[in-house]
Amino acid sequence: MRIIKYVDIMSAKNEGRKKIIISPGIMVSPYARETARSFGIDIVEYSRNKREEKNMRKLFIAGNWKMNKTNSDTVKLLSDLKPRVSDAGEVDIMVAPPYTSLTLAAEILSGSNIMLGAQNMHHEESGAYTGEITADMLTEAGCSWVIIGHSERRKYFGCTDELVNKKLKKALQKGLNPIVCVGEQLEDREGGNTFEVLRRQVTKGLEGITDLVTIAYEPVWAIGTGKTASPEQADDAHKFIRELLADIYSPEDAEKIRILYGGSVKPGNVAELMAKENVDGGLIGGASLVAETFSQVVKF
Ligand code: PEP
Repeated sequence: MRIIKYVDIMSAKNEGRKKIIISPGIMVSPYARETARSFGIDIVEYSRNKREEKNMRKLFIAGNWKMNKTNSDTVKLLSDLKPRVSDAGEVDIMVAPPYTSLTLAAEILSGSNIMLGAQNMHHEESGAYTGEITADMLTEAGCSWVIIGHSERRKYFGCTDELVNKKLKKALQKGLNPIVCVGEQLEDREGGNTFEVLRRQVTKGLEGITDLVTIAYEPVWAIGTGKTASPEQADDAHKFIRELLADIYSPEDAEKIRILYGGSVKPGNVAELMAKENVDGGLIGGASLVAETFSQVVKF
């Protein structure tokens, strides 16, 4: 159970924030509440139901397990997760386990409200690409989603914008729903180049694409680091991406596209991020590896 303490109020004060947004389940210590009041900082509860009231795009929470979980871990995690989120009907939920667990996960998730995705795919139909996997293999294993261009694929495995584009075309051709990841490095942000990087990644990645695809904005400096973009930083980046999407598709279509935020999202910060107009969900790494935390993120 997360508790908002004095230190949280002090860091909000130091960041010049006048409002702290929390999910209803989060406690606030009496001293923290008093301190917030003395600094004129409002503590506001926000839950996913508020999004529905405002007719916002349907929330989408996706878990990227990365290179974690054996088959037996997968059985445990998904068996624990399923009943915890079975009543979260107003949220689209997806998990992306490692390839070795996909078929097993598909069996466990059959008939549930959790969709299945993969973490990557190759753009060729088949052939001599040792260690790679095709879109057909993923659909046959039960996947309906695939993550494309995750920053770890870009950083460690040479995934370029051109490859993102090729993978995206193949995924769409095969009926997979892609989540295209974009995001700047720390030096890009510090050098004031965030929007330039996002423009390049989005326009090159989506070149020649007419189908609407889900985007994940994941500032690289916030992935697995415990540092989260502030809700305002996330919303600014998402708004900019939506403007790019309006040019690529049309302003009406851009309004339909979900842009997820990724980067150290957890039960304690999910509400303030999802309260933002342009943030339509989350791509969750670390917090998706434990059923309790992932379900708290889903059901904030
Ligand atoms: C990710 O893997 O896409 C991610 C956002 O990881 P984390 O939530 O651990 O930062």
